[in-house]
Amino acid sequence: MTNFPVFDGHNDTLLSLHLGKKGQERTFFQESKFGHIDLPRARNGNFGGGFFAVYTPNEGYAIEPDNYLTDDGYDMPLPPKLEQKDALRFSMALAGKMFRIEGESGGDFKVVRTAGELKHCLENGIIAAVFHIEGAEAIDTDFDALHVLHQAGLRSLGPVWSRPNVYGEGVPFRYPSSPDIGDGLSDAGKSLVRECNKLDIMVDTTHLNEKGFWDVAKITDAPLVATHSNVHSICPISLNLTDKQLAAIAESGGVIGINYAVNMLREDGMFGTDISLDIIVKHVSYIAEKFGIAHVALGSDFDGTTIPDEMHDVTGLTKLVERLRAHGFNNHELRKITHGNWVRVLKDTWN
Ligand SMILES: [Zn+2]
Repeated sequence: MTNFPVFDGHNDTLLSLHLGKKGQERTFFQESKFGHIDLPRARNGNFGGGFFAVYTPNEGYAIEPDNYLTDDGYDMPLPPKLEQKDALRFSMALAGKMFRIEGESGGDFKVVRTAGELKHCLENGIIAAVFHIEGAEAIDTDFDALHVLHQAGLRSLGPVWSRPNVYGEGVPFRYPSSPDIGDGLSDAGKSLVRECNKLDIMVDTTHLNEKGFWDVAKITDAPLVATHSNVHSICPISLNLTDKQLAAIAESGGVIGINYAVNMLREDGMFGTDISLDIIVKHVSYIAEKFGIAHVALGSDFDGTTIPDEMHDVTGLTKLVERLRAHGFNNHELRKITHGNWVRVLKDTWN
């Protein structure tokens, strides 16, 4: 097998390990039939690592579109705001788990802080984890927590998840819908982007509504990035990116990680998992052909969403790479899609 480790834009494995559904408890180090990522399966799938999200859920909130059906789709309300102290405490638990995994891994898993470390890991079969926070609720508006977390290794931050916070408002789960729902970043949100620029923390636009996206685009001095978003003109869900947004990301030298969430892949926006990996290839090749091969990568959302049956879990990545090859991508292009584009963007962002 040619060596194309997949470096991936987004997973919720820390949350999945932390909350472990009853009867489905698992660890990172033992192969499980539950969840999507653990070390043995990551090895099988040639998973090189990725952004490990630290995300604080609303207690008792689940995404249940069946309760919010419309004539041609669904329209789910945003969950309520979180308290900063609660989000900070929960974030410490997930980040703590990540560093414990690193410590117990005997060198198999490393939290990377520079592009050089990331490259070294990918070349040497070490799982590389980027410490990412999804939804900045844990960050106080004086940015003290941001500075401390940066010292601890935080290198990527999404100002919002799909809910409101002091920095802005996320995009609700709505199909079909434009991403242009709600207000953009607050003044604090704009300051957050500037502070992240100063610290070389990557700003993720996934889960922002369209106004928030353009606010980031206007302010940031780094390439634009969406770690786990798809093509709106294929699947018109509110979370996906319009051609205009995709063009702006490409023009900035940035990248989009394609998300394996079935309702963000399927043309009909629905939740059936009986779809093949060809739909992922379709989103990848749309961006490659229209905006350039340098601007598309992968952003699974493993352990955070419902994925196609054919993917099953992280072991399905080898199948996906072969499907991309069968579509016509050559080795040079596959290297970019699987990890090269992410490495370039992080190098440009982290200086
Ligand atoms: Zn997400």
